[in-house]
Amino acid sequence: MKSQIDRREFLQRSMISSAGVVVASLLPATLKSKSSRQTTGSQNADAQLLKPARVFTAEDGKIHEGWVVLVRGERIAAVSPPAQIHAPEGMKTIELPGMTLLPGLMDIHSHIFLHPYNETLWNDQVLKEPLAYRTIEAVRHCERTLMAGFTLLRDLGTEGAGYGDVSVQRAIREGMIPGPRLLVATRAIVATASYGPGPAGFAPDLVLPKGAQEVSGQTEMIKAVREQIGQGADWVKVYADYRHGVSGTVPTFSEEELRTLVAEAHSAGRPVSAHATTPEGMRRATVAGVDSIEHGYGGTEEVFRLMAQHGTAFLPTLTAEEGYAEYFNGYKQGGALTTGMQQALQAFKLAMDAGVTIGLGSDVGVFAHGTNYRELEWMVRGGMSPTQALLAATAVNAKIIRMQDEVGRIAPNMYADLIAVNGDPTQDIKAARDVRFVMKGGTIFRNRS
Ligand SMILES: [Zn+2]
Repeated sequence: MKSQIDRREFLQRSMISSAGVVVASLLPATLKSKSSRQTTGSQNADAQLLKPARVFTAEDGKIHEGWVVLVRGERIAAVSPPAQIHAPEGMKTIELPGMTLLPGLMDIHSHIFLHPYNETLWNDQVLKEPLAYRTIEAVRHCERTLMAGFTLLRDLGTEGAGYGDVSVQRAIREGMIPGPRLLVATRAIVATASYGPGPAGFAPDLVLPKGAQEVSGQTEMIKAVREQIGQGADWVKVYADYRHGVSGTVPTFSEEELRTLVAEAHSAGRPVSAHATTPEGMRRATVAGVDSIEHGYGGTEEVFRLMAQHGTAFLPTLTAEEGYAEYFNGYKQGGALTTGMQQALQAFKLAMDAGVTIGLGSDVGVFAHGTNYRELEWMVRGGMSPTQALLAATAVNAKIIRMQDEVGRIAPNMYADLIAVNGDPTQDIKAARDVRFVMKGGTIFRNRS
């Protein structure tokens, strides 16, 4: 243990690691000095009193006018009206006039190794951007995410960037680079020949790098789960359906294969996330026992009821659908919705009506990192109140990722992951675009009060 601690201290001082040699030397000087300050700040953080105009604790769905929050070290010590706070001497006071203080937002469906497809098509990102380049991009994406008030991401697959997410997670944890807390899924698991690049559209004898790990049968399934967990996966991500050959989107794994995957992941204490857009893919994933289903665009009333019965969470990724419509169907923001977008919103409504647990997961990476707030706005357009959408991004997401005792609410002993936005987002969700203050684990990363 000791040698590990020594190495960690050495890393923090020198900002060098096997991955970090490239990353640190290419960061702007300002960012380098800022992140070393942040590391120091985190270690020395003492009592800080935050004084916003109002507080949304995500405990009761209410706005508390005039409340204050006391932070000690990396955790919240108290939240209440000012008179009830015993303020320690020499404490730092942070005024946040006109702002609403919220728990840090979370997006639990992201891809830090992707950037919008109208900049570079997905195939070209996977085939033509080297891992080192993609890692540098991921580092920038993480900084933008944190500055936009998203203090936690569950990253659901590196899309061809191997185990790169584990290194980014480590660099953030060590204070080397600014970024949200990261839960990682590493490579993700797909059925043989069902995921890109290719095989369709390329010469059949070409052996292409893949956007995820291909498996067939229970033996390969178990092996892939074990390998990914061994490399550091916090979650196991599987594609329960996908485009396959000429037939369009079909279920890609048998129920037995999915059950095997879930049993193996759960036995190692890792929850499972399933990509599924067809009713049958969603059904198989649900009965196999996955913990969350992603997209669900084709979900029926019946399959959403099944998910509600099984306690399977749903991440609707509405903004990804908007992104696809923009890139490939001529959709203009604010214009008439495409069929795909209407279908996604319809599924969202069916899931709400069926009482499914709905968190915020946007599939950011398909669209620009740092604009995750777009998903909040889509959820409100889809029928949630602003308060419901904010709860989805905080307390509900925390439960889905089993971190409800650490993040997602403003309450004593929770991590001090706190953001302040101009105005009141429970009245107008667009206020979530205007993030002025970001604190993660008691360290201030942004303050434009
Ligand atoms: Zn995704």
